[in-house]
Amino acid sequence: MGGNWHALTQQEVVGYLKSDAVKGLSEKEARERAARYGPNELARGSKAPAWQLFFKQFGDFMVLVLLAATAVSCFLGEYADAVTIMIIVLLNAILGFIQEYRAERSIEALKRLAAPEARVVRSGRERKIPAAELVPGDIVILEEGDRVPADLRLLKAVNLEIEESALTGESAPVKKQETAMPEGDITLGDIRNMAYLGTVVTRGRGRGIAVNTGMATEMGRIAGMIQEAGQEETPLQRRLAQLGKVLVSFCLFICALVVAVGIIRGEEAYQMFLAGVSLAVAAIPEGLPAIVTVALAIGVQRMIRRNAIIRKLPAVETLGCATVICSDKTGTLTQNEMTVREVVLGEDKLIVTGEGCDPKGEFIGRGDRQGRQFILLMKAAALCNNAVLERGGVSITGLFRDLVRKQPNREWSIMGDPTEGALLVMAAKAGFWREKLEKKEPRVVELPFDSERKRMTVVCRQPSGALAAYVKGAPDVILDLCTHVFKGGRVVPLSYRDREEILRQNSELAGKALRVLAFACRELPGNTEDFSKEAVEQQLVFLGMAGMIDPPRPAAVKAVQTCRRAGIKVVMITGDHQLTACAVGRELGILSRGERILTGRELDRMSPEQLRKEAGRVSVYARVSPKHKLQIVRALKQAGHVVAMTGDGVNDAPAVKESDIGISMGINGTDVTKEASAMVLADDDFSSIVAAVEEGRGIYDNIRKFIRYLLSCNVGEVLTMFLAVLTGLPLPLTPIQILWMNLATDCLPAMALGVDPYDRDIMMRPPRHPRESVFSHGLAWRIAFSGAAIGLGTLLVFWIGLSMGDVALARTMAFNAIVFFQLFYVFTCRSEFHTILEVGLFSNPYLVWAVLSSAVLQLAVNCVPFLQPVFNTVPLNGLQWAVILAVSATPAVLGTAFRHLVDRAGKKVMYLKV
Ligand code: ATP
Repeated sequence: MGGNWHALTQQEVVGYLKSDAVKGLSEKEARERAARYGPNELARGSKAPAWQLFFKQFGDFMVLVLLAATAVSCFLGEYADAVTIMIIVLLNAILGFIQEYRAERSIEALKRLAAPEARVVRSGRERKIPAAELVPGDIVILEEGDRVPADLRLLKAVNLEIEESALTGESAPVKKQETAMPEGDITLGDIRNMAYLGTVVTRGRGRGIAVNTGMATEMGRIAGMIQEAGQEETPLQRRLAQLGKVLVSFCLFICALVVAVGIIRGEEAYQMFLAGVSLAVAAIPEGLPAIVTVALAIGVQRMIRRNAIIRKLPAVETLGCATVICSDKTGTLTQNEMTVREVVLGEDKLIVTGEGCDPKGEFIGRGDRQGRQFILLMKAAALCNNAVLERGGVSITGLFRDLVRKQPNREWSIMGDPTEGALLVMAAKAGFWREKLEKKEPRVVELPFDSERKRMTVVCRQPSGALAAYVKGAPDVILDLCTHVFKGGRVVPLSYRDREEILRQNSELAGKALRVLAFACRELPGNTEDFSKEAVEQQLVFLGMAGMIDPPRPAAVKAVQTCRRAGIKVVMITGDHQLTACAVGRELGILSRGERILTGRELDRMSPEQLRKEAGRVSVYARVSPKHKLQIVRALKQAGHVVAMTGDGVNDAPAVKESDIGISMGINGTDVTKEASAMVLADDDFSSIVAAVEEGRGIYDNIRKFIRYLLSCNVGEVLTMFLAVLTGLPLPLTPIQILWMNLATDCLPAMALGVDPYDRDIMMRPPRHPRESVFSHGLAWRIAFSGAAIGLGTLLVFWIGLSMGDVALARTMAFNAIVFFQLFYVFTCRSEFHTILEVGLFSNPYLVWAVLSSAVLQLAVNCVPFLQPVFNTVPLNGLQWAVILAVSATPAVLGTAFRHLVDRAGKKVMYLKV
C-alpha cells in the first residue's frame, strides 16, 4: 500500500484493513494478526551474546598477567600449581559472569516494565495494551501527551496537534485533520491526516487506525537513526571507577615492592613473582564496580516490588539524598476516586448520596429537581465531559441500561478523567446519561480542558437548530466569564452581591476539602462560525456548583509522617482552590498550623529571589499551573535542596526534567512525562515515592557495607604480605592460598551484603549530602583500622605457627586465620550504627549461607587429604585451630562488646538527661 494511506477515504482505509471503525478488531483477529505481522517494535541493535560476556571476565589486565605466570609455571613443570590457578581463575570468572549476567538481565527487565502502552478499541471495548501488541487494523485512541504507538490514519481529530520532530526535525507541532488529502507528491511533514510512530501528541484528542506497525512504519525505515537511551552511570559508579584506578596503582606499587624486597632477601624469584601477581589479583578490587552495579540492579528490583520503576539508574542514588518531595495532590496524595457530595444551585443546596462509580443515589435537600437550572446543570455536567461510565467493560449508553440491569453483579467503572467521571455519575444519578443526551444534542465543537485554563467548553446543536455552549471549570475562573446567573428559575444579570455569595459558597465547599467545579451555559445562534475561546467563553450564565471529595490515601498519611522523621520536606502542589488544598494538606499532615500557602497568583508576583527565600518554608501551593512547578523546582534547587518532583500531564514534563529526581505517574501519566522522568510510579501512590527513598538509602548503605568489607580485607591481605617481607619473615601465604582466599571470601559474602536488610531506623536519619564522599562518616578510618587488625592478627598467628612448627604449618595457620578473620568481620560490616546483636545474626540468611559455605570450603582445603598438597596445607591439631579461631574472632567480639557498652552508656546518659 506504500505511503498512499492519506489519499484514501476513511471507509476505504478501514475496508482495506478489514477492521471496524467503531468496534475495532476482535481479540481473535488481533491475535492472528499479531502472529502474522510480529510485534510492533523497532528492531534493536543486537546484544552481546552471553559467551562474550563470559570471556570478558578474562580480559582484566592482572588476570592476564596471572594467566601468563601460570603458563610459566607449566613451563617450569609446576603442573599442579598451574592447574589449580587455572581452576580458581575459572571459578572467579564464572562468579563474575553470573553477577554481570544478572545485572544485565534485570536492566533488560526494567526496560520491558517501562515499555509504552497504547489505548485501543477491540471487540467494542476501549483498553490499554502494551504498544508492542498493536497490529495493523487496530483502532487507536490518542490523547494529549501520548506518544503515537504506530503509524495511524486518523479517523477523528479534535484540536489534534502532533509534534513530529523525531521524524521531520521540525519542532513546531503540526495540526492534524481527519479528512482525506489529495494524492500526489507530498512530503511527510505535510501529511495532515496521519500520525506517525514515535511522534508526540501535544494537544487535543484523536482516533486513528493502525496502518503500519514495527519496522514497516516510517520510523522503522530510519530505525538506525534512533539511539537508545544508554544506561547512565551513577555518580558513585563514576567516583568508584576513579578510585579504582588509584587503588590499582597503589596495589601494584606495594606488590612490586613485596616482590623486590622478597627477591633481595633471597626468596626464589619465580615464587616471589607468582606471589606478587596473585596478591595483586586478590588485592585489586576489580570486582567492585560490578558488585556496585549488581547492588544497584538488585535495589532497582526491590523498588519494582514496591511499585517504583527506575528509568535512570543515577536516580537510585539521588533518591537517598532527597530533601524535598514535591507531589501533586490529586491521585498521588489522594485516591483520585472522586464522588460528588454537594450541589449548589443559587441559594439551594443538595446533598448527593451514593458511593463510588455506581450511579445509584439521591439528591436530598431544598432545591427544585425539575427546574431548568437543575436540568441545565446536569446537562452541562454530562455533555461537557469526555469520560465514559462502564459496567463490566460495557459502556453505558442509555440504550444499554436495561441490558446492564439484568446483570447486577458487575462493577461500575470510569474510563477517563476521574473529575469528569464523578460528574457523569452525578448526572446519571439524576437520570441524565451522556450518550443519550448526545443523541439529541450532538457535539459540534470542544474547547478542551487544560490545567492552565482550568475550564472546558463544548458546543452542542439543539434539536431546534440553535447551539448551546456548556462550560465547566474552576468557579473563580468561570465566574469571571459570566454576566448572568439563574435566580428563582430566571436568568438575571450577575450582581456584585451574587458574585460575592457564589465565592462564599465556593469557599465553604472548598473548606470541607471538596474539589469544586462550576457550570455555566449560553445560547449561540445556529449559524455561528467563530468557535474560538474568546468568542464562545463569554457572557455566560452561571448555573451552579458541584463539590466532590477525593479522600487522602491512607498510606500517604503514614508516608508523610515517615518523611518528617527522615528529615524530608513534603510539598503539595495542586491546581485546586487554596481552601481545598489547606483542608487536604491538614488531613495529610503536610500543613501545620500557621504555615503559609502560596497560590499561583502570588507566585506570579514574586521575583525568583523572593521565591528562593520563601520556598523552603512553604509546604502547600494552590491554584498553580504546570509552569509554576518549574519555578518551584528551580527555587528549591537554588536553595540547596535535592528535589523530587512528580508530574503527569505534558506540561509537567519540564519541571519533572529539571528536578533532581523526576517522577511520573504510571497509571495517569502521559508518555511524554514518563520519558522525562527518572522514576515511574506503577500505582501513582505517594507512599511508593517514600518507599523508593527508603530503598535508595538502603542501597547506598549496602554499597558502603561491602566497600568497607572488601577494602578492609584487601588492606589486611596486602599488609600481611608487606609486613612479613619487611620484617624478614618468610611469605605467610603461598600464591594459591592467596587466590583461594580471594575466591572464598570476596564474592559470596560481599554479594550477600549487597542484599542485606536495611537498618530499621534508616528513615529516622537525615538525608545524605549528595556530594558526600562514600568514605565519609569515618568509613576510611574503619577500613584502615580493621585492615590493620586483620593484617597484624594474621601475622601474629603466622608467628605463633612458626614457633609451633615449620613454615608449612605456620602458613596453614595464617591461611586459615586470614580467611576466618574475614568471615567474622563480614558480620561487623552489616551496620555502622548497630552491633550484630541488635541487627540479628540470622536476619540475613544469604550471608549466613555464604559464610557457612565459605567456611566449609575452607575446612575442605585443610582437611581433605588430596586437597592438602594442592593448597599447601598441613593437618592442624585442636590447639592450633583454637589459636586461629581465638585470634580471628577477637576483633569482631571486642568491637561488638565495646560498641554495646558505649551504646548502653549513651542511653544511660540520655535517661539521666531526661
Ligand atoms: P492536582 O495538582 O491536585 O493533582 P491538578 O493540578 O491536576 O490537581 P487540575 O486538574 O489542573 O488540577 O485542575 C485544576 C482545576 O481545574 C480544578 O480545581 C478544577 O476546578 C478544574 N478542573 C479540573 N478538571 C477539570 C475538567 N475536566 N474540566 C473542567 N475543569 C476542571
